[in-house]
Amino acid sequence: MSVPPLPHGAQVVVVSGPGGVGKGTLVELLLARDPHLWLSRSWTTRDRRPGEPADAYRFVTEEEFAAHVAQGGFLEWVEFLDYRQGSPVPTPPEGSDVLFEIDVTGARRIKEMYPDALLVFVDAPSREEQAERMRGRGDAPDRVAQRVEKAAEEAAAAQQLGMRLLVNDDLDRALGELQELVADHRAR
Ligand code: ADP
Repeated sequence: MSVPPLPHGAQVVVVSGPGGVGKGTLVELLLARDPHLWLSRSWTTRDRRPGEPADAYRFVTEEEFAAHVAQGGFLEWVEFLDYRQGSPVPTPPEGSDVLFEIDVTGARRIKEMYPDALLVFVDAPSREEQAERMRGRGDAPDRVAQRVEKAAEEAAAAQQLGMRLLVNDDLDRALGELQELVADHRAR
């Protein structure tokens, strides 16, 4: 697939990381502070999970997803056992940079398409803290265990991809560092 062009000068920022480390929280705060960042919301065919924000994804039917695939509307998409998920071709307004919040596999594909993208891997200070945050958010114990187990693999993949590691210890500090990474990337 040829890579859809972005508006002239638009930068690409990818935020990835294991479940429960605080990606969504950081992204929401970053977007609120940075009017020149435009969120490319992923599409999913799965149901919204309990406690999941309504705008975490664009929740669509299998038919809507398939139609969008057929018209070349996705940059990348994956099929899990029981649902499909993907990043639509971004359509940011002129003057905005594009932000993706996606998993490491998606980040790898975005890097292939946009080699100059800034890739940030958010992690918790420890696996215990990651698990604690998920428990605090109300995740079921089996999901917590699954995501913690997957995290080491994701961190290794992120390192291989050369992603910038951002440890989300103190939220304000981490947000500041994320803003700096974005500012430095724009200033290159
Ligand atoms: P993710 O999007 O990575 O799955 P969330 O943004 O949903 O993670 O955050 C998981 C939980 O951790 C939420 O309850 C959130 O309020 C909390 N959290 C996020 N960042 C921090 C932080 N720096 N310190 C403590 N708790 C945090």
